[in-house]
Amino acid sequence: MTEAVAVAAEAAAEAVPEIDAPARPSLSPSRAADFKTCPLLYRFRTIDRLPEQPSPDQARGTLVHAVLERLFDLPAADRTVAQAAELVEPQWQRLVAEQEELAGLFADGGTPEEFLASTRGLLDGYFAVEDPRRLQPAERECLVTTEVDEGRLVLRGYVDRLDVSPAGDLRVVDYKTGGAPREAFEARALFQLKFYALVLWRTRGVVPRVLRLLYLKDAEICDYTPETEELARFERTLIALWAAIERATEARDFRPRPSRLCGWCAHQARCPAFDGTPPPFPQRPPAPAPDEDGPVIE
Ligand code: SF4
Repeated sequence: MTEAVAVAAEAAAEAVPEIDAPARPSLSPSRAADFKTCPLLYRFRTIDRLPEQPSPDQARGTLVHAVLERLFDLPAADRTVAQAAELVEPQWQRLVAEQEELAGLFADGGTPEEFLASTRGLLDGYFAVEDPRRLQPAERECLVTTEVDEGRLVLRGYVDRLDVSPAGDLRVVDYKTGGAPREAFEARALFQLKFYALVLWRTRGVVPRVLRLLYLKDAEICDYTPETEELARFERTLIALWAAIERATEARDFRPRPSRLCGWCAHQARCPAFDGTPPPFPQRPPAPAPDEDGPVIE
């Protein structure tokens, strides 16, 4: 699921302070990163729940994630680049049947054939940096969740892949497929991985040994080793971030924070920083629906 496709599902799972039916709020890494990046973007996605049409890059990311997840269903010896390429078209047909917003993907140009060929190219990037015949993931697309701040806030998110060594060391793996310049998103990607590391530490009592970003377009791996104290600080940061979200919701004050990431924002037309006007603030913010949360793919 790409960022845009994930927004609707994630937004449904995001809590905003409730008026008459208190429920424990929950926060996912992408919505937390939204607020950090731009409070107004958080509002558009989580409170207004404005739809976002997936871009070809985002749809390609969704498809690559689906193929890589299915690839590990195959016996280890069959996890070849040719088998992965074989999975592309049927997975795409499945996604189009499930997600109607993908139907309009080629309205502005491009063809399904070009799209599927470029997806196979990203898979080549994956095979350039990993050999899935030598890997047996412990978990894939797994939901991780924990409570912080004495139970007042729930952190939740989906990890692309979790590897566990025979010694019990954890490696959190996140596939990055985007076409945007990597440096524009690297801080956001690491924020996401630290979020997962914190949740795993709190639930399993083990700090993950490695946080791995796997950049398929560039066929590169970026490994990061978190420290315990760093994750403890990160937890305090998330609690403070949630307090800021609550204050903004109470005041109905979510300001735009323009940055280079505006170039990838689907909501420029409604953003005051681009002479747009946000819709009226919803009278009653949406209630959380944790079961509708979904994987985050960027
Ligand atoms: S265009 Fe930029 S400033 Fe406006 S909502 Fe999007 S990210 Fe925020």
